[in-house]
Amino acid sequence: QNTINKIAAGEVVERPASVVKELLENAIDAKATAVTVEIKEGGTTFIRITDNGCGIAREEVPLAFLRHSTSKIKSVEDLFTVSSLGFRGEALASIASVSQVELITKTSIGLTGTRYQIDGGEEKTLEEIGAPEGTTFIARNLFYNTPARKKFLKTPTTEGAHVAELVEKLALSHPEVSIRFIQNNQNKLHTSGNHNLKDIIYTVFGREIASNLLEISAKKPEISIQGYIGKPVIARGNRNYENYFINGRYIKSSVICRAIEEAYKPFMMQHKYPFTMLHFTIEPELLDINVHPTKMELRFRDGEMVYQMVYQAVASALAHKEL
Ligand code: ADP
Ligand code: MG
Repeated sequence: QNTINKIAAGEVVERPASVVKELLENAIDAKATAVTVEIKEGGTTFIRITDNGCGIAREEVPLAFLRHSTSKIKSVEDLFTVSSLGFRGEALASIASVSQVELITKTSIGLTGTRYQIDGGEEKTLEEIGAPEGTTFIARNLFYNTPARKKFLKTPTTEGAHVAELVEKLALSHPEVSIRFIQNNQNKLHTSGNHNLKDIIYTVFGREIASNLLEISAKKPEISIQGYIGKPVIARGNRNYENYFINGRYIKSSVICRAIEEAYKPFMMQHKYPFTMLHFTIEPELLDINVHPTKMELRFRDGEMVYQMVYQAVASALAHKEL
């Protein structure tokens, strides 16, 4: 079982950022309204995620670390239909198999909390402890027991940058959750959790971008688009400033990129890639779910329809007001 977990961990856990992704998504799934992510040395030696979500009942704790134990959905088809981000029940088993994990958790009905320690997949402690409601998850020394994989980690600076980017994307996709990010004891990000997209854009991208935005809004029965387009402050030769979210998930989509860049072309000054931040709400039947779920590139059943809709929405926003 342990070996299987270690091998399979490679699929889910590639680097500190993938650990943070899974744990942060779990916190959001647990209906937390405030989450703190803390890392040291790029997350290679220390990752701590604290949430005020529903917690895990003591008898459920060891079960949550078993492969394919999920309290969430039953099939990949449900991926874009259910509201939860997790679905495979693999993350905790994988993370615990390649690091030293400490978990402190308490539910609203639990009288006391639970502390659980599991090292390289081996259970060490399960004990009662006083704790606030919610969950604190610590993962130490990633890949300490799989040296071959540890070698593939980059420097703490690079790994930390990946974590920071990931936290930003999740903060942007969940404006309803207040997310705090602390790196080497320094506050790096703190979103308000007040649902307001513009506030989040301000917090993550700064004043200059946030004060130069045009609202984008389009609605059809099966698909709606809400968000902003603006000019990137620094000319970038890449698409770092293009952010798309479908039903709460950060995704990449070449169809959406092309539609936006085409519509933006007539207004383009020195910036080829505009700042964009679009939230899509789409009927899951319109999505091609055969794409591997951890890959972020998404395909649509009817790409042309999506292309036209995005193009129109962006073109008409730009036609009405100058950036
Ligand atoms: P998945 O998210 O796919 O269900 P995970 O391995 O990530 O699988 O988590 C296993 C289970 O542990 C979850 O289904 C959930 O019930 C529980 N869990 C994990 N993290 C938390 C958390 N922060 N708060 C409450 N429950 C959690
Ligand atoms: Mg999960």
